[in-house]
Amino acid sequence: MAASYNDVPVPAGGGSIGYSNGRYQVPDNPIVPFIEGDGTGRDIWKASVRVFDAAVEKAYKGKRRVAWYEVFAGEKAKAKFNNWLPDDTVNAVREFRVAIKGPLTTPVGGGIRSLNVALRQILDLYACIRPVKYYKGTPSPVKHPERMDIVIYRENTEDVYAGIEWEQGTADAARLIEFLNKDMLKGGKKQVRLDSGVGIKPISVTGTKRLVRMAIKFALESGRKSVTLVHKGNIQKFTEGAFRKWGYELATEEFRDRVVTERESWIVDNKDKNPNLTIEQNANLIEPGLEFATEEFRQAIYKEVKGVFDKIHRTHGKGAWKKKLMINDRIADSIFQQVVTRADEYSVLATPNLNGDYISDACAAQVGGLGIAPGANVGDGYAIFEATHGTAPKYADKDVINPGSVILSGVMMFRFLGWTEAADMIEHGLECTIEQKKVTYDFERLMEGATKVKTSEFADYIIQNMQAAVMTAV
Ligand code: NAP
Repeated sequence: MAASYNDVPVPAGGGSIGYSNGRYQVPDNPIVPFIEGDGTGRDIWKASVRVFDAAVEKAYKGKRRVAWYEVFAGEKAKAKFNNWLPDDTVNAVREFRVAIKGPLTTPVGGGIRSLNVALRQILDLYACIRPVKYYKGTPSPVKHPERMDIVIYRENTEDVYAGIEWEQGTADAARLIEFLNKDMLKGGKKQVRLDSGVGIKPISVTGTKRLVRMAIKFALESGRKSVTLVHKGNIQKFTEGAFRKWGYELATEEFRDRVVTERESWIVDNKDKNPNLTIEQNANLIEPGLEFATEEFRQAIYKEVKGVFDKIHRTHGKGAWKKKLMINDRIADSIFQQVVTRADEYSVLATPNLNGDYISDACAAQVGGLGIAPGANVGDGYAIFEATHGTAPKYADKDVINPGSVILSGVMMFRFLGWTEAADMIEHGLECTIEQKKVTYDFERLMEGATKVKTSEFADYIIQNMQAAVMTAV
């Protein structure tokens, strides 16, 4: 470990978080780098860190403490070091493994596409995790926001996020279009219009499987009921459809005894209900109209049914499948209506990049929106917790912005570190404060009879409400 990063000494008395065999080793005094963030990030961080420290103190009475360590990115780094993202910032996050950050300005005028993207790519933080749940009293546009308790695992490195695209009118775009039209699409009906911009959407086995693996591990460890693969595979067969296929493959190959796919559950359940059912009868139940299908398709379904019996009837039959983690899939457009009308049927969503981007905001909108939407970017051995909103510059340094998203990102971080008592305490304090209708401007304008409070006051109330919480300290 270096003695300092960006000329700032590493906090004395703090310890490094370790990582081996897929597990983090967390000392009682972990050094956690933080990036305060630009614009409203400053107000938000000041409020959030007070809440974090108060929760840890109340939960562990001095036995545990976070050694916060400021590292620089964004405007502050540009002003201090003439560099939007100094190497030392990345080195410190790599050294200490778990960090938290406020929103960062996206530098205009080239160089870095986005600081957030740069950090994710450098540390290969391949899963963007967004939990979306309801806190009582939060203003919501839907009748039953309390039905929402979904954690979204969004692939973070490929799909459109890879940013491989060529601008319309450039020589490169023309070259690629010519190659596609004259070579790859030669002789077919499809051609790319000559005045197109072109983007590439790569989705790989590696990217898909490591993301789905992380989502399933989380679901198993936290007792969640299902993992849903969200895709547009009916149209984009070799990218989104492949995501679905590889997701199921991963689930059934690596977690065989602990999971059941939705189709397997139908097959096993049909047999449980009627032990005399033949393979053919069972196949007709899971594929209505099978008698009108081609012989080849029919045989494939018979083979699937037989395969399920051979592989899992012993472990999953007689109702045992009901105790397994359900793996299912939904087409991306349908999941948007499902999360509005039947949110409680979903628990963990695993998605390629673009679907995840849309669906996480659509879910968050039902339970309070950007102001309290937390997130994390996680890889193997590294994690950065962060607000999902931007810097909201028009509210900077006015002490008015909602700090909820960074506060709840801290809750995620404490759970990630295994400090659940501190996490529970903060959630309890935040929920009480919202129920008491002491809220920042964004909630106040949507609630009747609410008191508008400053960013700093919102933190004060959370801390006061934590006091009242009945929690068992370790
Ligand atoms: P933004 O900062 O997210 O703000 C857009 C609007 O969202 C705000 O005007 C406000 O709406 C609402 N909002 C955002 N954060 C809020 C909070 N904590 N509490 C309450 N309301 C909140 O989006 P932007 O103005 O498009 O982007 C500004 C800068 O942030 C850009 O440089 C962008 O690149 C960057 N950015 C950074 C990140 C990141 O660091 N993760 C993410 C996105 C954007 P009302 O005015 O209606 O109240």
